[in-house]
Amino acid sequence: MLEIVRTELKERSYDIFIGNNLDSEIKNFLGKKKYSDKVLIISDSNVFSLYGEKYENLFKDAGYKAKTYVVNPGEGAKSLEVAQKIYTKAIEENLDRKSLIIALGGGVVGDLAGFIAATYLRGVPFIQIPTSLLAAVDSSVGGKVAVNHELGKNLIGAFYQPDAVFIDVNLPKTLPEREIKTGCGEIVKYGVIQDADFFNYLEENADKILNLDNDVTTKIITTSVKIKADVVSKDEREGDLRRILNFGHTVGHAVEKETHFKAYNHGEAVAIGMVAAMKIGEKLNLIDERDTLRVENLLKKLQLPIKAENVTLDGIKKSMFHDKKTINGKINFVLPVKIGEVIVKNDIPEEIIDEAVKYVIK
Ligand code: NAD
Repeated sequence: MLEIVRTELKERSYDIFIGNNLDSEIKNFLGKKKYSDKVLIISDSNVFSLYGEKYENLFKDAGYKAKTYVVNPGEGAKSLEVAQKIYTKAIEENLDRKSLIIALGGGVVGDLAGFIAATYLRGVPFIQIPTSLLAAVDSSVGGKVAVNHELGKNLIGAFYQPDAVFIDVNLPKTLPEREIKTGCGEIVKYGVIQDADFFNYLEENADKILNLDNDVTTKIITTSVKIKADVVSKDEREGDLRRILNFGHTVGHAVEKETHFKAYNHGEAVAIGMVAAMKIGEKLNLIDERDTLRVENLLKKLQLPIKAENVTLDGIKKSMFHDKKTINGKINFVLPVKIGEVIVKNDIPEEIIDEAVKYVIK
């Protein structure tokens, strides 16, 4: 089964292909493009050892000279130091303005390779081949590319769209179990912000999701990507609408930061953040306690945490106010009005924020 979702952005529109083994789609796509003969595959060593040879051969078969740059796995690769080494490689290999960059990996590789593509020679084309569930449902679509600064995550970056995204639903099958659950955090988010039927589907299929059943994986990736592509098409640069994609991220980011990006990974922290956002919605009488419990129960079924350990109310609040999404000292909270619909509010009484944050502290 092949699904194609389009991100409509005028002359920068692109297709997202979702299916089993997309080699022929990639070759067809390359056949229609006029890229220079050298391409640069950027990957991390975990992913490269599993899939590097396959993709090197695919690009070679399609007539390209495939060069590769392999980074160490983990968030540390999203740095200007690593980017600098990749620029050097690109210059030494004589990559030109029409040389394609390929992001083969999870969100770290996608963000880094996209950042290189956005900045090398003032911008060269790139495609995303996401290999983690999180990258498939979230980071590979939408064009946010970035590296980290020692003072904060994703502070140096751009909006830069790929030419295409190829999501082979088989690739996440080699992920460590925890990384599968991480992706589920963002998937639940899509149900809450925009699609109540999808939320029901997730409730009914939690086991199959964790086992990465083929049909279920295709369905959840396609639905998630459709929601993200639709939002990005309407608001590429995070004016207002795109903010809804940050549901669960305000408290989530603070939890990640307070635990030094070690105890919880992104999806786990977002799960905790979503519960906090539900609680704020409940305290403001936007939703019913039963809605919060439904979200909690689904997260539990997907084996995600709903409360954070080793954090304090003060610490979380301090981190929230320093988040880069805070504008003029006001925090934008994405809050539920029902399962499947959210609003953005920035005038939440402090005592309600406190109650909600306390609720998610173990
Ligand atoms: P990641 O890229 O670090 O991948 C997680 C781990 O899984 C790594 O060890 C990686 O080597 C391994 N891995 C990936 N695919 C694999 C596979 N198929 N088989 C075996 N192992 C595999 O992390 P992630 O969770 O994919 O992404 C997190 C990053 O994404 C963060 O840096 C975050 O800031 C970014 N992000 C960006 C956006 C965006 O819109 N640009 C959105 C969400 C998250």
